[in-house]
Amino acid sequence: MREETRRCLQSDQAHCWHPFTRQAEWCARGHEPLVIVRGEGVWLWDSEGRRYLDGNSSIWTNIHGHAHPVINEAITAQLGKIAHSSFLGFTHPLAAELAERLCGYFPTGSLERVFFSDDGSTAIECALKMASQYRQQTGETGRDHFVAFTNAYHGDTLGAASLGGVKRFVERISGRGFPVIQVSSMTELSAHPVERIAAVIIEPLIQGVNEMRPWPTGMLAALRRWCDETGVHLILDEVMTGFGRTGKLFACQQEQVIPDFLCLAKGLTGGYLPLAATLTTGEIYDAFLGSPERSFSYGHSYTANALGCAAALANLNLFTQEKTLERLPEKIAHIAAGLAQLQATSPLVHKIRQCGFIAGIELRRPDGEKFPVHERLGEAICHQAKRHGLLTRPILDTLVLMPPLSSTLGEIDHALDALRETLKS
Ligand SMILES: *Cc1c(COP(=O)(O)O)cnc(C)c1O
Repeated sequence: MREETRRCLQSDQAHCWHPFTRQAEWCARGHEPLVIVRGEGVWLWDSEGRRYLDGNSSIWTNIHGHAHPVINEAITAQLGKIAHSSFLGFTHPLAAELAERLCGYFPTGSLERVFFSDDGSTAIECALKMASQYRQQTGETGRDHFVAFTNAYHGDTLGAASLGGVKRFVERISGRGFPVIQVSSMTELSAHPVERIAAVIIEPLIQGVNEMRPWPTGMLAALRRWCDETGVHLILDEVMTGFGRTGKLFACQQEQVIPDFLCLAKGLTGGYLPLAATLTTGEIYDAFLGSPERSFSYGHSYTANALGCAAALANLNLFTQEKTLERLPEKIAHIAAGLAQLQATSPLVHKIRQCGFIAGIELRRPDGEKFPVHERLGEAICHQAKRHGLLTRPILDTLVLMPPLSSTLGEIDHALDALRETLKS
């Protein structure tokens, strides 16, 4: 082990506390987590000089690859001017331009306002607070509940987490946060009385943390119709699905749906910096005008961070410059064909779930039974995949394959080969 690696691990294991991590195992003697020191395109290098393909886009964030000259240049140019100033009381050119660009993806008169924050969780938190305050200010105080879907994941701040349905994450906070009604399908939702409901929130097309589980085709459009009939607002959590991940820039465009709130984060800056956006309609915005106490009392210190806005604008420009979306269908078909072959040749592959550039590979025993949870097979497989030059993280026993959209067919093959070799051994 190189001195640089040793020193990093020593300080980390003495002082860092990692997200969603069993720290005792992390700090155990013999556990040597990778120290990532460099990235270029879809590749990551560790401090020992080994190269890996970024198979989950650095936890679902990266779009056009690492150290992209266009994004690097945009951040550097802004850094030469100013890194950050306050969006409370002031504005700056890049935030104004970015807000205009984001609204420009939707028809005039629909999503017209952008509220910036930092992460997926805060983008959701913001939508929930807006949706809730909107009802208070339109004389509908009884409409104070949110509807969320079973096994949903919307982030970890208290409000966002209270709408989550993944038991292992939310049982510690049950009973706190927003009042929530959980439903598992459109049928169940349609049977529910609507008087108390402010808004319904969903991860459109596919639930991420729920082991990459797609919704039935047409479900999103049906949900929009139901919202129109009942006056319930529709909040779309496109934190994972946004920015091309499903094959279109936004997942809602796959079913011609425009939500009342659209939450964007992970891919907004191409995976470079924490920045999030909550988009909403002019009608909702208007309910916050008038007397001072009607305004939206919410915000974070780094709202509309200038470096983040620079990265986001460069990210959007790259979609045009590199024809990112136009190139996706061929790549998506290539992933599908490769995964079908993987399923045909590996008895451990139980089910492939794919939505555009997002894929989940569920592993089970050849008899179709799940492996015991404590065996942590998914983790063990991902650990082995590192030896074949692939980095990814499982969700239980579902392996995630979600490389940057910039991946070439050859790079996709590298990831598929690594999975095949790993499953073989
Ligand atoms: C990651 C994610 C979030 C939370 O975003 P953070 O940036 O981690 O706070 C919310 N919703 C979905 C669908 C996500 O994938």
